Amino acid sequence: MVKPIWYTLLLLFLSATTAQPVPPVDAEASISRFQNYLRIKTAHPHPDYSTAVSFLDSLAKSIPNLHTRTLYPATPDKPLLLVTFPGSNPSLQSILLNSHIDSVPAEPSKWSHPPFSAVRTDDGNIFARGAQDDKCIAIQYLEAIRNIILTDPHFTPIRTVHISYVPDEEIGGLHGMAKFVESKEFKQLNVGFFLDEGQASTTDQYRVFYADRSPWNLVIKAVGMPGHGSRMFDNSAMENLMKSVEVVSKFRENQFDLVKAGVLANSEVISANLVYLKAGIPSGDGNFAMNMQPSEAEAGYDVRLPPTVDPDLLKKRIGEEWAPATRNMSYDIVEKGPLRDYMGRPLMTATNDSNPWWSVFKDAIKACGGELSKPEILSSTTDARYLRQLGIPTFGFSPMKNTPILLHDHNEYLKDSTFLEGIKIYESIIKSLSSFE
Ligand SMILES: [Zn+2]
Repeated sequence: MVKPIWYTLLLLFLSATTAQPVPPVDAEASISRFQNYLRIKTAHPHPDYSTAVSFLDSLAKSIPNLHTRTLYPATPDKPLLLVTFPGSNPSLQSILLNSHIDSVPAEPSKWSHPPFSAVRTDDGNIFARGAQDDKCIAIQYLEAIRNIILTDPHFTPIRTVHISYVPDEEIGGLHGMAKFVESKEFKQLNVGFFLDEGQASTTDQYRVFYADRSPWNLVIKAVGMPGHGSRMFDNSAMENLMKSVEVVSKFRENQFDLVKAGVLANSEVISANLVYLKAGIPSGDGNFAMNMQPSEAEAGYDVRLPPTVDPDLLKKRIGEEWAPATRNMSYDIVEKGPLRDYMGRPLMTATNDSNPWWSVFKDAIKACGGELSKPEILSSTTDARYLRQLGIPTFGFSPMKNTPILLHDHNEYLKDSTFLEGIKIYESIIKSLSSFE
């Protein structure tokens, strides 16, 4: 039915008289919400997940159009909060933004401000464990959506945007993201693109990560004939172990030389760092028997593999050169996470035209005046690996430029203006990704 002209005029009149002016974005309120979240003690070994989840849940519910759900992918003491900003076309794959709730412990005596005080100094630095890793992005996601709705109340994303707040990332994610991606709730999200944490950048450009290195815990064991401390003989456990330690040290030196020469980045080589040595016969008084050569000795290594490395070749090298059975050596590798996706491909997300999400992401940052540095492999490991394993395009990104890298360090802080800039960046990213058809 065609509406008469007076009806249209009446609607126009009503909307003109009832339209509210757009309230200004309250930056100070965003900063204090960030500080309040930082004050919740979510550091290991006893992260307060329930307080954090109820805080984030009520924050999300204070924003129009957002829905929340609390899930328990592993156990009732490890909640996961899922926030949803529904899109107009649910048949399209969704966007998932992620932040882990937990953080590493802090030693208060080594901090200039108490690590859970979220003190803001005169120069704007907010000190707290988790300020960079990664409670900033947790709040920035929500503040960005709040601002989008505030400045454009009619904005509706085409694709649905979800935010996941997950437990246990800092201890491997086995009871967090690893379990969540196996759940039916996750499958129902139909995720097409995943954005996870990154790291601060000391330059004027933002950093983006397209892969993580994968950690291996390697233990090399040597056995040999025991003997009196005074005897000289071949193939003692200690002699065999020390030969291996030398071989691994040489390998490490060669890898590190590539970094020092600028040929490869730190995260592009295999690192093999000696983390413990174990041998000796205890004498009972806290010392060791000095006149005995032990029959067993072992060395522990933290090994990190970039996705460009063939893990089978490294295993071959370990078996043949680092711990050869011909020298009575054995080894044990605990792989702390997947190395290949479900199709057998290395866990890397393309940063070229073959990945349409890359262009949308890159352009969104450019659109709000930001600049990206060359995409990198992350030296360490995040929950992103569980999504890459499913073949989901995934980037690591935390918008912190001109900021010292302080994750897991004493006196971790983030500047208030950097935090606010990050909200602007996410406004652009969320709008672009959710409008991409
Ligand atoms: Zn983190």
